[in-house]
Amino acid sequence: MAARARILALTEDSGRQGQPTLQRILKEALKLLVVGVDLNPTRIRIEPLPENDRALHAIHANQWKAHPPTRDTVILLGAIAARLLEPAGFVVFHFDTDRVWSKRESSENRRKFETIIRSGVRRILRGEGAPPLNPRAKPSLTAEQIEAALNRLLILSPCYSMESWLYQATQELRPICHDRHGSDEHEQLITEWAMDRTRLDEVHRPKDEALTCVADHHNETLAKSFPAEDVWLAERSFHESVERLRACTALVEALSHPAP
Ligand SMILES: [Zn+2]
Repeated sequence: MAARARILALTEDSGRQGQPTLQRILKEALKLLVVGVDLNPTRIRIEPLPENDRALHAIHANQWKAHPPTRDTVILLGAIAARLLEPAGFVVFHFDTDRVWSKRESSENRRKFETIIRSGVRRILRGEGAPPLNPRAKPSLTAEQIEAALNRLLILSPCYSMESWLYQATQELRPICHDRHGSDEHEQLITEWAMDRTRLDEVHRPKDEALTCVADHHNETLAKSFPAEDVWLAERSFHESVERLRACTALVEALSHPAP
C-alpha cells in the first residue's frame, strides 16, 4: 500500500529517548490538525534516519549550526532534499529554541535553521553546490516546485526546549519529582504549570535549572501523557509549531484522506 505521507523525523536530541519522544509528540500534533486522523503507519509513515547515518552526526552534535556547513551537514542537507523530492515526502525537524517564548525572536537556533538548513536545502534543490546523494533525484525543478518542496520541510521548535512541552504532563511529572525528593518548591511550581499552561514556555532551561530532579530522564514516559489539546489552547510554542504544520496544505491533505 502506498503511504500517503512519508515523514522523515529528525531530532537534535541524541539520547535513546529522543526519537520515540519526537514521534509521540508529532503524532499528538497531527491529531490536532485533522480530527479523527488515521495514523496507521502503513499510510502515515514516520521514520528516523538509519542508525549510523552520517547525517545523524550533523544533527546530534550541534554541527548543523556551524557555518560553513560541515561535511556531515552537507550529507544531512542532501538527505532532507532527497526526502522532499519523493512523492508524499515530508521532513519534520525538531530543534530547541533555547529561548523562552517572550524572547523567541532572538533565537539563534531559529535563525540558523533558516540560514543554514533551509537555505542549504534550497541550493541543493536548485542544483547548486554539492550534488544530492541520490543521482536519480537530480533536480530540474521550477522555482515554484522548489518552494513547494521547501514548504514540506517543517519544524518543531519548543520554547525553551522539548522538556518545556513534556513537563506539561504534570500528572506524570509530580510523582517522578516526589520519588526523588520532597520539595515544596517543586510541588508549587508543578501546580502552577498545571493551572496555567502558558507558564512553562517562560521557564529558562527547564531540565538543567528548573527541575534537575527529573531532567530528561523520563521524556518518553512524559510524552505518552502529553496533554496536547490543553497545551495547544495555551497558544505558546506548541501551538505555534502545530499551526506551522497546519499551514502545510500538502500535509493536511495527506492526513485528511479518508481511510479505505
Ligand atoms: Zn523535584
